[in-house]
Amino acid sequence: MGLSRTSTGRKAAETDLPGIGKERNERLIALAGNPNVGKSTVFNGLTGMKQHTGNWTGKTVAGAVGRCRVKEKTILFADLPGCYSLNARSAEESVARDFICFGGADRIAVVCDASCLERNFLLVMQILEAGGDAVVCVNLADEAEKKGLTVDIAALTARLGVPVVSMSARKGKEAFRLLPALEEPGEARVSIRYCPDIEHYITDVSALLCGGGQTRREARFFALRLLDSDPEFTGRLARHLGISDEDYGTSRTLAARLREALEGQPGRSAVDEIAEATAEAAAMATEGIVRQSGRRKAGQSRLDRLLTGRVTGFPIMLLMLLCILWLTVRGANYPSALLSELFASFEEAVRGLLLGIGLPRFPVDLLCEGVIRVTGWVISVMLPPMAIFFPLFTLLEDMGYLPRVAFNLDRCFKKCSACGKQALTMCMGFGCNAAGAVGCRIIDSPRERLIALLTNSFMPCNGRFPMLIAVISMFFASSGILSAGILTLLILFAVLMTLLVSKLLSMTVLKGIPSSFTLELPPYRTPQLGRVLIRSVLDRTVFVLGRAAAVAAPTGLVLWLLANLPFGEGTMLSALSGLLDAPGRLMGLDGVILLAFLLGMPANEIVIPIIMMCYTANGSLVEYTSLGALRQLLTDNGWTAVTALNMVLFTVFHWPCSTTILTIRKETGSLGATAAAVLIPTAIGFLLCCTVRLLSLLF
Ligand code: GDP
Repeated sequence: MGLSRTSTGRKAAETDLPGIGKERNERLIALAGNPNVGKSTVFNGLTGMKQHTGNWTGKTVAGAVGRCRVKEKTILFADLPGCYSLNARSAEESVARDFICFGGADRIAVVCDASCLERNFLLVMQILEAGGDAVVCVNLADEAEKKGLTVDIAALTARLGVPVVSMSARKGKEAFRLLPALEEPGEARVSIRYCPDIEHYITDVSALLCGGGQTRREARFFALRLLDSDPEFTGRLARHLGISDEDYGTSRTLAARLREALEGQPGRSAVDEIAEATAEAAAMATEGIVRQSGRRKAGQSRLDRLLTGRVTGFPIMLLMLLCILWLTVRGANYPSALLSELFASFEEAVRGLLLGIGLPRFPVDLLCEGVIRVTGWVISVMLPPMAIFFPLFTLLEDMGYLPRVAFNLDRCFKKCSACGKQALTMCMGFGCNAAGAVGCRIIDSPRERLIALLTNSFMPCNGRFPMLIAVISMFFASSGILSAGILTLLILFAVLMTLLVSKLLSMTVLKGIPSSFTLELPPYRTPQLGRVLIRSVLDRTVFVLGRAAAVAAPTGLVLWLLANLPFGEGTMLSALSGLLDAPGRLMGLDGVILLAFLLGMPANEIVIPIIMMCYTANGSLVEYTSLGALRQLLTDNGWTAVTALNMVLFTVFHWPCSTTILTIRKETGSLGATAAAVLIPTAIGFLLCCTVRLLSLLF
């Protein structure tokens, strides 16, 4: 819409978008469109960035900015979250709408799916109606072609009056087709005709604003948003358009009066009337533009009947999870052992070298046992499972399976008065709970969003997964398939707890009826095997190495000092773990384990290294490069199957890591909600551990 012209300077990064940095002489292009139409793919193609792409609705909840150099100039692209219309119904839709209206974009490229142009055109129509300087980008042309659909681009350009370009953004450099179109001039030739009541009202508001400096289009846009948007947005819009407080007040009264009048008639509301008129305009604009020349394939619906069927949906879901976990456990074994050995030899070599040149024992131990050993653990135990799990998970995501999971679980969540989309945020939590917390923005109802936020950390994130695999392999399972089976059951249990707590919350403090939502089941798409493998393996490697460098190495150093410098009778670490011993033992754990979880708050990856450090500081064992040796160390320090089981349960149910806590604070803006997000899983973990201990004592 180009309504605002502000700019500040910041470089390409993920952002909530308001206030992104546009530099002088730079053009800002916003990539808007419905969810899952390829906006991020176009964005990545143009900017060379790696914004997450995925085959499901709601995956981009924040937004990203990046630059593309064209000859001597640079263009700044903003990848907006998906939205269906300017009548924002969820937090992420508001981000997109606000950016379209106030972001100061020079042009808006509306990305559409060639296979369902008419539906995508609801947004196109609204943007064009508002006078937005737009370019329409008809993406996914290859998919449309496979379905036998052809889009008449020339006719569409002539009809709309703005540049239209067709592409398959995933293929090679096709995203660059957008660039020449951005240079072409255009003036929208479309308008939406509303019912007479609304048209009269628009005329009244326009007359009222006449002389205030607003254009006819701006007045029309403002009047319509007064009917369908929240007062916060319309207040901002009024200020933005320079509408006086008095005129704003009068227009609001007119809008309220019309809304009331319409709602007085059965089956009518202002929002529905606007949606209907927009849909009609979209249908007219696309009429005769898309031709069906070939036959549609029936394969997709057959697959859907299987993957989302009442009888088959659940078992297939569990089987897939089991397979992924089995591949992860089996596949991670060998590289983990190899990396462990490498680190052990490296530690040995460094120790030999440093002692050889005459360094005193203290700094050598500090470096070897503190820094190298903890870093070595994080890399060798964390990296391989992540590097296997995530590509597999991403392949499912790219195929379009995740929304089917949400579809299957929708009934369960609805029974708990929560939102079926919570299944998607749960899946995001597998990767990272902080990402899951941000992802909760896809849930429109604030009540249901809060439920999802409070329970998101029940899903073991990538910092906890390998820890679970290690403990399960050491104490409960002799084979990979058994480990995977136990993990699957554990995840199932975490899902059940999510449902149970969601139910309890919605019956008590977060009472309400479940809202309805439209879950889009995207078409199955052939995953981009090579890109997924390379990207997720590389990204994971960089992530784990980054965590190892940023958290594990310095923590290892500090911990070693705490574990070895004398403090009173023992060391600082033994004193602290001594303090926590009583509550730890009550839970069937011990003070060391509880302390490790507390100190592991910045990153769960370091929990087990802390435990190792505390135990070895007590002088029991030095050598533990394999899981077998680690098991020996743990059993020597009193671990039994009950301790291990409680460790597993507490790993799943305890306070979220500090990044997640900060994210929840930011997302909810409430200290109370953040405290609840910390206390709920911790209380569950505490109760579960106490119960297990009690049962073990009884039997
Ligand atoms: P966004 O939600 O609009 O940002 O969509 P994404 O960029 O994440 O893309 C959604 C899915 O569509 C991903 O699986 C992409 O790989 C896929 N995709 C995007 N563009 C194309 C295309 O031109 N052809 C095909 N076949 N798939 C595409």
